[in-house]
Amino acid sequence: MSHDPNCLFCKISQGLIPSQKVYEDEEIYAFKDINPAAPVHFLMIPKKHIPMLASVESIDAPLLGRMMELAPRLAKEQGCRPGQDGGFRLMVNNGADGGQEVYHLHLHVMGGPRPWKK
Ligand code: AMP
Ligand code: ZN
Repeated sequence: MSHDPNCLFCKISQGLIPSQKVYEDEEIYAFKDINPAAPVHFLMIPKKHIPMLASVESIDAPLLGRMMELAPRLAKEQGCRPGQDGGFRLMVNNGADGGQEVYHLHLHVMGGPRPWKK
């Protein structure tokens, strides 16, 4: 697994920095956002260090597919309401203009009753 020793989210997925874990398997780690913008707000990351969406390569497509497939299940487990009245938001910030602050690819999963901050 390729990690960047200076990367905050690499350190979190390796357990070197504490986090509130939501899910883990051999390729994916999910944990609660430290500054939630919604009643449910967690981040899903590949354990592999990928800086941003724009650095994704074809070889990463199955991994990203797995993350997308997993997101609704974790959202439900974390308390997002099912069906049309419920739901959740998936967000990827890419680059400075996209609002990205941590350069390790992450999916924001946000949900719960409105209103939210974002
Ligand atoms: P972004 O702006 O898309 O790069 O989002 C980075 C997110 O990481 C923000 O929502 C932060 O609140 C969150 N964050 C930063 N540090 C931590 C941490 N140590 N544990 C959990 N979430 C964090
Ligand atoms: Zn990283």
